Amino acid sequence: MIYLDHNASSPLRPGILDVVLSVMAQQVGNPASVHWAGRMARQYLDEARRHVAALLDLHESRIVFTSGGTEANNLALFGLAAAKGYQGELLTSQVEHPSILQACEVLAHQGMTVKYLRVDGAGRVDPGEVASALTRQTVLVSIMAANNETGVLQPIHDIGAICQAAGVPFLVDATQWVGKIPLHPDSVPADLVTLSAHKFGGPKGVGALIITPSLLLEPRMLGGGQERGRRAGTENLSGIAGFGAAAALIKTTLIHEQSSVTALRERLESQLLAAVPDAVLWGVQAERLPNTTAVGIPGLDGETLVMTLDLAGFAISSGSACSSGKTTPSHVLRAMGVDPALSQSAVRITLGWNSTSHDVDSFVNAFYRSVNRLRKGS
Ligand code: PMP
Repeated sequence: MIYLDHNASSPLRPGILDVVLSVMAQQVGNPASVHWAGRMARQYLDEARRHVAALLDLHESRIVFTSGGTEANNLALFGLAAAKGYQGELLTSQVEHPSILQACEVLAHQGMTVKYLRVDGAGRVDPGEVASALTRQTVLVSIMAANNETGVLQPIHDIGAICQAAGVPFLVDATQWVGKIPLHPDSVPADLVTLSAHKFGGPKGVGALIITPSLLLEPRMLGGGQERGRRAGTENLSGIAGFGAAAALIKTTLIHEQSSVTALRERLESQLLAAVPDAVLWGVQAERLPNTTAVGIPGLDGETLVMTLDLAGFAISSGSACSSGKTTPSHVLRAMGVDPALSQSAVRITLGWNSTSHDVDSFVNAFYRSVNRLRKGS
C-alpha cells in the first residue's frame, strides 16, 4: 500500500502516537481545575502551545486551539463578521477552501457583500486586484497561503502589505502551508492565520487560529473561558499534545524535508510526463508547495483513475479530497480557466514526510498501466 494523499491528511509522524496515548492514559484532570490533576493537564496544554508558538515564531498568547482548519476558518470569518455587526465587505478569492467559501456564502445571506477575486491561468491572485477591490467598507481580506488542490502559493506577503497599509484585517488560511514550507507568520502581515495538525503529521481534529491580540472577534463557542475567551470548551488535550509534539518535530526537520520532497516531486513529474506525454500539469508556472502535483489526463475520468489505482494499492485523490464523492468539477480548476472536460480528468498526487523514491517509481508504473488500460477500454 502506497499513500500519496498527504494534502488530504498526512500520517502521524514517528513518536506522535506515543505522546497522544500517554496523555490519554494518564490520570490528568481538566486543565481548568486548580488541583494537581488539573495542573498536570495545564502543563501539557502550555507545553503544546509553546511548541506551536516556536514553530510559527510568535507569542503563545496569540494561539487559539481549535478542532482544525475548518473551525479556525469559521471562527475567523464569523467571529469577525459578528464583531462588525454583519456589515461591510469581505474580499476573498474564487479558489479558497470550502470552509472559507461556504462561510462567505452564509455571510452574504446575512447581508454582507462578498467579492471573489479571480485568479490567473496558473491559479494566482493578483495583489493589484486586491488593492483595487478594497473599499472603505472592506472589513476583511481572506486569501489562502497555498492551494490544497494545486499547491499554488499566493503572494500573501504583498497582499498582507496592501491590507496593512489600508488598515484592513487579513486572514491567511495556512492549513496547507504550515508543515510544508518553513513559515514565520510574524513576517506575514496577517492578523489571522489558520492551521491544522493533521496536514503535517499531527493528529486529526486539532488545529489553531492565530489572532492578533487587539483584533475584535466574537467567540462562536460560548461557555467556559477557555482559550482566553476566544473558544469555550474543554480542550482536546491529547490531540493538542500531539499537535505540539508534531510542531516541535518539524521545526528541526522541515528545511531538510522541503528539499527532499521537492526532489521526489521532480522525479514524479518528469517520469509521469515521460509515461503519459499528453498529461497536463497544473500550476507549474507559479510557485508551488514542494509536494503537490495536480495533473489532468485528456479523455479520462479522474474518479475512475483514482479507483483503479486504489485497487492497485495506491491512495491519491481526484481534485480535492474534501469534495470527493461529488462529481462536480473542481472550482479551483474552473477559476483557472481549465476546460471542464479536462478538469473532470484531474487527479492530485501529494507527497509527504514518509514518501520514498520507491513509492514514486512504483506509482508511475501503476499510473502508466492504469491510464493505458482505461484508454483502451474507453
Ligand atoms: N483549508 C485548507 C486549504 C484545507 O486544505 C483544509 C483541509 N482540506 C482545510 C482548510 C480544513 O482543515 P481541517 O481538515 O483541519 O478541517
